[in-house]
Amino acid sequence: MIVTDRPTDGVTHRVTHCVTLIPGDGTGPELAEALETVLAASGVAIAWERHEAGLAVLERCGTPLPDEVIDSIRATKVAIKGPITTPVGSGFRSVNVALRKALDLYACLRPAKSLAGVPSRYAGIDLVVVRENTEDLYAGIEHQITPDVAESIKITTRAASERIARFAFDYARAHGRHKVTAVHKANIMKLTDGLFLRVTREVAGSYPELAFDDCIVDNLCQQLVLRPERFDVLVAPNLYGDIVSDLCAGLIGGPGVAPGANIGAEAALFEAVHGSGPDIAGQNVVNPTAFLLSGVLMLEHLGETEAAGRVYDAVAAVIAEGRRTTADLGGTAGTREFARAVVARLS
Ligand code: NAD
Repeated sequence: MIVTDRPTDGVTHRVTHCVTLIPGDGTGPELAEALETVLAASGVAIAWERHEAGLAVLERCGTPLPDEVIDSIRATKVAIKGPITTPVGSGFRSVNVALRKALDLYACLRPAKSLAGVPSRYAGIDLVVVRENTEDLYAGIEHQITPDVAESIKITTRAASERIARFAFDYARAHGRHKVTAVHKANIMKLTDGLFLRVTREVAGSYPELAFDDCIVDNLCQQLVLRPERFDVLVAPNLYGDIVSDLCAGLIGGPGVAPGANIGAEAALFEAVHGSGPDIAGQNVVNPTAFLLSGVLMLEHLGETEAAGRVYDAVAAVIAEGRRTTADLGGTAGTREFARAVVARLS
């Protein structure tokens, strides 16, 4: 949602973007503080609507995802979220999955682009993973058949496959990319992944200027490690997309630098690929790069392309210079010092 002052004097007025901010838990509040500091210095006017979700509100509200959070995102249409801890094996279902479901954020976008100065095995990586976000095994439709047998159902539909394929090709076209690769295991899951591959191939026919191929997910993982330059935009069902996007984050130096977005027809939610880092929470050591670059994706989504470019360049410059980076990048700066160095580059 944007708010514009009515022009009364013929002068162009600055637009204020209303954005929902969910700090999350673990390292989330430190990341949110860094983001607010940096975006305030970017010159983009943002009115934050702050809401809590996850463990932070479970006791107080009886649910990790109060309705007011979803209502806020429905109204602002744009949100950015810090990581939220999900209990393993029992406890409440993932807030991240619930948000994607409630808002039908069907496309998960995860760019993986090398940054000079980030220790990594590769240089020059520039990949984008487009992950279907709503169905597949990841939908978590599970049944306990007997105490010793559990079942999980994998759903693939033509509608969701076509929607994500179109998103991937439209993204590739709009961003000057050259190739889309469909990721699948249709040799074994002939009906579900077979449908995903068939539909993606059909959609490819409407984008003749873009190359298209497909790759079986296990071979893809091997090829990404051996020859990542073979790939450009990858489009994948939910579970493979989840795993492959972490692999791609690893190619560029790890979770601390990999941003992400969940996009639907009505709303968009931006978040880093990494989790809540319980082992480093509250210590001012978490690397805010992935969260700040998720903020860059958000600025692009808001149409603030120029500011997005400046924030990206400022983050990249601080990392390349190497004097004020966080411990995971071999530096000694804290989260706040890193954010202040980015602000200094922006001013
Ligand atoms: P994690 O990403 O939180 O941590 C893995 C390792 O990477 C840890 O050693 C951590 O300290 C480090 N790390 C992560 N982000 C970092 C950063 N920005 N800077 C420096 N180091 C960083 O993964 P995990 O331990 O598997 O998950 C912890 C919790 O986060 C779990 O409850 C999981 O469900 C949740 N999670 C949430 C999201 C989300 O909210 N989108 C995503 C993934 C995991």
